[in-house]
Amino acid sequence: MQTSYLRPTYLEIDQQAIYDNVHHERERLPQSSQLFAVVKADAYGHGLVPVARVCRAAGASGFCVATLDEALVLREAQIVEPILVLGVTSVTTAAIAASQHISLTVADRDWLAAAAQTLAGKNNLPPLALHLAADTGMGRIGFTEPAELQKAAAFVLDHPETFVFEGVFTHFATADQTDLTHFQQQQAKFKQMLAVLPEKPRYIHCANSATSLWHAELAMNMIRFGIALYGLNPSGTVIPAPYPLKPALALYSELVFVKEIHAGDTVGYGATYTAPATEWLGTIPIGYADGWLRRMSGMAVLIEGQRCPIVGRVCMDQIMVKMPAKFPVGSKVTLIGRDGADEITIQEVATYAQTIHYEIACGLDNRLPRHYLPFDPD
Ligand SMILES: *Cc1c(COP(=O)(O)O)cnc(C)c1O
Repeated sequence: MQTSYLRPTYLEIDQQAIYDNVHHERERLPQSSQLFAVVKADAYGHGLVPVARVCRAAGASGFCVATLDEALVLREAQIVEPILVLGVTSVTTAAIAASQHISLTVADRDWLAAAAQTLAGKNNLPPLALHLAADTGMGRIGFTEPAELQKAAAFVLDHPETFVFEGVFTHFATADQTDLTHFQQQQAKFKQMLAVLPEKPRYIHCANSATSLWHAELAMNMIRFGIALYGLNPSGTVIPAPYPLKPALALYSELVFVKEIHAGDTVGYGATYTAPATEWLGTIPIGYADGWLRRMSGMAVLIEGQRCPIVGRVCMDQIMVKMPAKFPVGSKVTLIGRDGADEITIQEVATYAQTIHYEIACGLDNRLPRHYLPFDPD
């Protein structure tokens, strides 16, 4: 969507918070483990390139993304560190990845064979670095059988002109839960899978944020640190983080229209809200097209430190709120963040919308411009 700089609705990204979160995790890690910052989905809505730069300054030595396009944007921005594409990439684009030194994930042997064919004879290309995905119980992508993983690794090692065996990894389905049964089964399975490898690659990794925070002993030699770098607890509210995570994202707007309504007046599409008495109504220029879900009707925003609930339906581009007083047009509105003594967190928004903070953050559309607060790499 067209980023709308001229509308007074914007995201504020606290780069110091990101710096501090990454730096804190880096300090906890053994020297032998590297921190790869997971910056997929436009850095969980925080902005791919600026976030990658802060993470690098704070000690991230590589990056993980979901798509090859995301990796290419980082390369264009002069990010020269290792980048791993976590998803399955089309074989037809393997040469693009190789030429840009972008590492790809391998989830099955057919892909490998096809990639070997695609790359064969292109001798001016650097070899393509590969990470083999082991599916130990996530059920998404990767090798489920140790024998298959072994054959894949052998195939990669057999084609040293074409491939580099750079990594092997797995992904946990329940690292953010208190019941460890499934987690431990996955851990055991990963150990079995690693045991069959003909040789160990440079990176062996299994830790997302939740694993790194709550099972630090599984850092191996690389972690894939995502949600926690944005200051969000991977478990939502279930397990406290071992150190205070600093949320990096705030969402602000301002009142563009204010009026008094009277008993019986209705508000919004479907006329679903009827004023019970005389009250002050404010209109704010944000809507579901920005990622402020229709389901947010009833949720509060902060104006002058006071909670004002959204009344009526959320429109595509505007919402209406009920106010305790006649706040003037131009008053600052906080949808996510702190105002005076009160604060609305992404977690609170997610709980209200019956989803997880990951989805709220990623869903904030790029119609919202992002303002970056500076950071100081002490
Ligand atoms: C998204 C993702 C991560 C990061 O997970 P967080 O919970 O955000 O830390 C790590 N590994 C894989 C494979 C992923 O897809």
